[in-house]
Amino acid sequence: MADPKGFLTTPREGARRRPVNERLRDWNEVYPGDGIGGALLPIITKQAGRCMDCGIPFCHQGCPLGNLIPEWNDLVWRDDWRAAIERLHATNNFPEFTGRLCPAPCETACVLAINEATSGGAVTIKNVEVSIIDRAWDQGWVTPQPPEWLTGSRIAVVGSGPAGLAAAQQLTRSGHTVAVYERADKIGGLLRYGIPEFKMEKRLVDRRLDQMAREGTIFRAGVNVGVDVTGADLKARYDAVVLAVGSTIPRDLPMSGRELVGIHQAMEYLPQANRVAHGVEVPEQITATGKHVVIIGGGDTGADCLGTAHRQGAASVVQLEIMPQPTDDRPAHQPWPTYPMVFRVSSAHEEGGERKYAVSTQEFLGDESGHVRALKLVEVAFNNGRFEPVPGTEEEIPADLVLLAMGFVGPERDGLLEQLGVELDERGNIKRDGSFATSAPGVFVAGDAGRGQSLIVWAIAEGRACAAGVDGWLRDGETALPAPIRPTERPLTV
Ligand SMILES: Cc1cc2nc3c(=O)[nH]c(=O)nc-3n(C[C@H](O)[C@H](O)[C@H](O)COP(=O)(O)OP(=O)(O)OC[C@H]3O[C@@H](n4cnc5c(N)ncnc54)[C@H](O)[C@@H]3O)c2cc1C
Ligand code: SF4
Repeated sequence: MADPKGFLTTPREGARRRPVNERLRDWNEVYPGDGIGGALLPIITKQAGRCMDCGIPFCHQGCPLGNLIPEWNDLVWRDDWRAAIERLHATNNFPEFTGRLCPAPCETACVLAINEATSGGAVTIKNVEVSIIDRAWDQGWVTPQPPEWLTGSRIAVVGSGPAGLAAAQQLTRSGHTVAVYERADKIGGLLRYGIPEFKMEKRLVDRRLDQMAREGTIFRAGVNVGVDVTGADLKARYDAVVLAVGSTIPRDLPMSGRELVGIHQAMEYLPQANRVAHGVEVPEQITATGKHVVIIGGGDTGADCLGTAHRQGAASVVQLEIMPQPTDDRPAHQPWPTYPMVFRVSSAHEEGGERKYAVSTQEFLGDESGHVRALKLVEVAFNNGRFEPVPGTEEEIPADLVLLAMGFVGPERDGLLEQLGVELDERGNIKRDGSFATSAPGVFVAGDAGRGQSLIVWAIAEGRACAAGVDGWLRDGETALPAPIRPTERPLTV
């Protein structure tokens, strides 16, 4: 156990972010210096010492990767960072991604979160995680782990987000020859073109890809599989195929005025901004500069649009959410150790903008040139199992740029999926069995494409578990690879 009295003597504390007026002038991570790992160094040992090494560590319950949280908390407390990174990498291929981006269901499941008033709150698990991996990179402890011998089997991974990358790393390390195909010009999936630089700098993705390339993973960016290479080509060239194509069909808002100029899906807007942040010129870029921006959708994607719009110099930004404003404290019907709906303030929310809850858009209003100029909103109340407009609450808000951030409904069905003949489940995701195999022999699926829109931590867990399925299939049922989750496993909710 770390410090037996740690949580009694040390209050929960996180890293300080850079001042808002400073960070809005650049795209870098919102933490000072080299990023969050460095910012945490002065405080993290004592924070790790707050862990009680519980007899039943409920933090494990929250983490689909099965991260060995009390073990590395203890190792950090004892200043044995080298052992800590070994324990962390034992369950997580990419802790620098989860340590920055995960909503940390481990923390809401931490035993110290049962009674925050007396315990001071959960252990800052995610911060300990990111400190361990950032330090390990700094010290040169993260090195390529190429296999000792090759099996001769060839595997294609289609899609280079966290699920595809985790599957590829596991399979390469176990001796298979793995090629990762990506239709975008660069590898990384949503890590590269969805998540903005201020949440995670892309040099961190590049650094990990370099490690993977040195281990032997082959990367083929700019190849749209299903168009440039057919499903039949893949099956002819490879012994197994992993579909890690994500959940890329965005939910739309088909209503009066949707055709007006200036209304875009978040994933039309964010990738362009990410490219520009890296000095790439984007002709006719969708930009928030000088505009009244309305973001429809209150989740992570909406917050990413918010931070991006602020950095582009928007005149105003309003974020709309149909659900009522959550409470500051855990609601009674979402008890520990579930992941509760509480009012969260991301770094982007700290930077400004207005959040409107319990509202629904009734209509997009345009000007004479066919450009959006306003949104007609109404307050809603949840009655009889649906949201109903509250009469007399209609209002108009100005909008020159509307960003739709309402989630995703599944993978694209035509093209590759049709060519491979994989069946879909009742929700439109790719159907799989207990070992992540699809209905097409030798074709497997990992990540959002099979699970539906989810989180990076689940995508990595899916990639690892799918790799075990593929490896077992290639080796007549024998595999030494870990499978942290089953395809049907879901977060603990009520
Ligand atoms: C804007 C945004 C912000 C997010 N922020 C967070 C966050 O902060 N924390 C968090 O935990 N989760 C976040 N998420 C969710 C998280 O990013 C996803 O759950 C995760 O990336 C899914 O991983 P994946 O590997 O399954 O798919 P993806 O990351 O979506 O990658 C799929 C890749 O497949 C490629 N592809 C698709 N079809 C083909 C084809 N035919 N040929 C070649 N390539 C193809 C796509 O181009 C894409 O690059 C966010 C999502 C979005 C949209
Ligand atoms: S539940 Fe919290 S206090 Fe207990 S072992 Fe996990 S991190 Fe430590």
